[in-house]
Amino acid sequence: MTSPAPNGKKVLIVEDNAMNMKLFVDVLSVNGFTAVSTTDGAQALSLAQKERPDVILMDIQLAGIDGRDVTAAIKADPDLASIPVIAVTACSMKGDEDRFRACGCADYIAKPFSITNLIEVVRRHAGLGSSETKE
Ligand code: MN
Repeated sequence: MTSPAPNGKKVLIVEDNAMNMKLFVDVLSVNGFTAVSTTDGAQALSLAQKERPDVILMDIQLAGIDGRDVTAAIKADPDLASIPVIAVTACSMKGDEDRFRACGCADYIAKPFSITNLIEVVRRHAGLGSSETKE
């Protein structure tokens, strides 16, 4: 496997499911992103302060903590408030989008998601144009 050219953008992934985490890290890496990750929602704020990602992918159903509360804490930090947070949710229901935006999420991705859509959404919020997605 050839290494992709780095695109200079860093994504923080907050996800408590190991399989989903591996998928996110692999897909983002192969598309040129630097991926940093935590399975612990309670660590997401300090990791964001340390890593200063360009985009945050936030699983909403985290173990022991609601991803929306983690997002609210990130949005309450003036140094981090401008980082777009993309909610990742297992169930998409009518009204979900409004709820995620209300807690400060810039966008959301419903599971099961397509890799092409995931990369498109992340690229858009990272300020990159569209390009061919590698799966
Ligand atoms: Mn989860």
